[in-house]
Amino acid sequence: MAEYGIHHATFGRSKPSVFEIIGQENLITALRSAFRHGFKVLAENYPEKFGILFRHFDEGYTVVDSVFQYIHLRLKGGLFPETFYGLKRIPDPRSLDVSKRKIASWVFLAVVLPYIQSQMELLYKNVREEYSNGILNYKDFKRRLALLYLKFYPIYNFLWEITVLGYYMAFALNKTKFHSPLMHLTSTTLTHLTAFDLSDDAWKEYIPEKQKKLTTALWNCMNIFVGGVTLTISVGAFLTQFINWWYNSEGNTTSFAPMPVPPPPLKWSIDESVDICPLCKKKRANDTALICSGYVFCYPCIFRFVKENKKCPVTGYKSSLDQLVTLYQHDD
Ligand SMILES: [Zn+2]
Repeated sequence: MAEYGIHHATFGRSKPSVFEIIGQENLITALRSAFRHGFKVLAENYPEKFGILFRHFDEGYTVVDSVFQYIHLRLKGGLFPETFYGLKRIPDPRSLDVSKRKIASWVFLAVVLPYIQSQMELLYKNVREEYSNGILNYKDFKRRLALLYLKFYPIYNFLWEITVLGYYMAFALNKTKFHSPLMHLTSTTLTHLTAFDLSDDAWKEYIPEKQKKLTTALWNCMNIFVGGVTLTISVGAFLTQFINWWYNSEGNTTSFAPMPVPPPPLKWSIDESVDICPLCKKKRANDTALICSGYVFCYPCIFRFVKENKKCPVTGYKSSLDQLVTLYQHDD
């Protein structure tokens, strides 16, 4: 903390290095992927509860992140990744001179715009795939629009990337005080946090005397919430790194709890013809596989058996009706 104080006293407003800038921007991407991965694991294990959440992950994350970043700007003076890297915004979002509208525009550019850009990228990939497979199912005007999009999106994307890179270079070479085109658009710069900023109650200083009681109580709750999220993410980031290291370092290739490999089934003789249903011993009708064991039965036979016994008739593995898969052959 003292070093920040000295730094601040000596140089006034200090400019962050390009490494700090890139670090905090990488953190934004890393956090989104980490949460996405968490929801993916949940959706794979509990598809009925979390499947829908995972399908709408991007939209949900954008909404929650917008609210969180807005509160974070008002309390800590910067977006979460910025203050995580010891940086804050100038003009300071906690000061009363900064309008709510300006803070909302910061949130839009930092959270909503990247969401829109990722959706544009996704759309481009989908249209391109349909086009290259010859299944672009649009007619007339829509088709022309899709083809135009295929042509112009890469140009837009290239120009955007080159602008971002240009800003990084100009910033590193001290040619501009803005590290990105979006920061330039809102005339916002970043500077290091001071010892005062690092104290837990710095935000209270910015609340006007008149409304101190009510506003302080309200923002106090939010401050505790923001503190909790920050701690969780910091600990989470450390644990993720640790688990990554554990899995990737040599000699640790075994997982924490290896899945047991079931023994081969004994009851089923491979001499029997392959198109016989193990239950009715007749030629199979409406081939249906049971996922847990891989055996194929007639649909009515296996449906009835699993419904009553909740296990595979051949192997005895625990089964349920949602493990039935109807098999279709090419000439069906
Ligand atoms: Zn059968």
